[in-house]
Amino acid sequence: MVLGTGGTIAGTAQSASDNIGYTAAQVGVAQLLDGVPGLPAVLQGHDLCTEQVAQVDSKDMRFDIWLALAQRVVHHLAQAEVSAVVITHGTDTLEETAYFLHAVLPQDLISAKPVVLTCAMRPASALNPDGPQNLMDAVTVALTPGSHGVVAVCAGTVHGGLDVQKAHTYKVDAFTSGDAGPLAYVEEAQVRLLRKWPLAQVNKGHVAIKDILKDEVWPRVEIVMNYAGCDGQVVLAMLQPRDSVAPLRGLVVAGTGNGTLHHDLERALRQAVQSGVKVVRSTRCANGRVLPVADSEFAHSEDLSPVKARIALMLGLMSR
Ligand code: ASP
Repeated sequence: MVLGTGGTIAGTAQSASDNIGYTAAQVGVAQLLDGVPGLPAVLQGHDLCTEQVAQVDSKDMRFDIWLALAQRVVHHLAQAEVSAVVITHGTDTLEETAYFLHAVLPQDLISAKPVVLTCAMRPASALNPDGPQNLMDAVTVALTPGSHGVVAVCAGTVHGGLDVQKAHTYKVDAFTSGDAGPLAYVEEAQVRLLRKWPLAQVNKGHVAIKDILKDEVWPRVEIVMNYAGCDGQVVLAMLQPRDSVAPLRGLVVAGTGNGTLHHDLERALRQAVQSGVKVVRSTRCANGRVLPVADSEFAHSEDLSPVKARIALMLGLMSR
C-alpha cells in the first residue's frame, strides 16, 4: 500500500532544468508510481495499491494530517493481505513524521511489517528526478523479507525513523542517521542490511493513537535556541497569556554543546518551569546526544534532536 502525502517528489516546475523553483505536491501518488518503469520486476507479483492521504508541501505539515496518516497506516497494516506501507513525503519534515509514526504506531503491527517513508529532492518534472529511484528502493525495502519498523529511504540509503535527519539543503543524498549510522543500503534492488531493523518504541513518550483522538487541541510545545547574546525574552513573551492562543505547555531548548544555556536564557526557562511549563534540554549540535547533568532542573532529550524531542514532549503531555 502506497500512501501519498505530497512533497517535492510530487512537485512540478515550469522548466525541466529547474530543481528549486517548483511547486511541491502537484502529482497524485498513483501517477507517480506510473512513472517508475522498473517497478513490476521489484514487485515480484505483489499488487500495488495507492491512497492519497494528503497533498501538501511538508513544510506545512499539520497535526490533523499526522493523525489521519497514522490511522490509515494502522488500518492497512492490520489487513492480512497487506505486506507493507510506503509513504511518499516531503523531505522538509520527513524526520518528524517518521518519529511521530515510530512513537505512536502499535508495537505488534510495526514489529511484523515495515512502514517505509520516501521522498525526493528534485521535482517529478526534473530532467533527472530522484523520486522514481527512491520509490523503487522504498518498495524494495518494503518487500524485503524480515523488514519491519518505521524507516526512511533516500538516495539508496535506509535510515531508522528514530535517527533520520535532513542534513543537506540541496543534494539528493540529503539525509543522515548521525552517530547511529544508516540501517542499510539499497543496491540494484537488493537490501544490504548493516544493523537490525528498528524495534517499536515502548517507553519514551509513547502514546496510543486513540489517546491522541481524545485530545482535541494538541499541547503547545515550542522550540527555542541558545546563542551568543540570548537573553531569554522570547521565553518570557511566550509565557504571557494571549486570547485564542493555546497556552504554552512545553519548551524544548536547543542548547549549545551538551545542552548548555546562556544564564539569562536559563533564568527565563526556570521561570517557565515555575509557571508549569515542562522544559526539555536538547542540543543545537547536529550529532551527539545531551548527557544528563546531575543537578539540572530541566529534563533532557537524550538522543533526540530538538524537533523530535518536541514531538516526544507533546505525546508525553497528552498521555498524562
Ligand atoms: N518543501 C518540500 C517538502 O518538504 C521539500 C521536499 O520535499 O524536498 O515538501
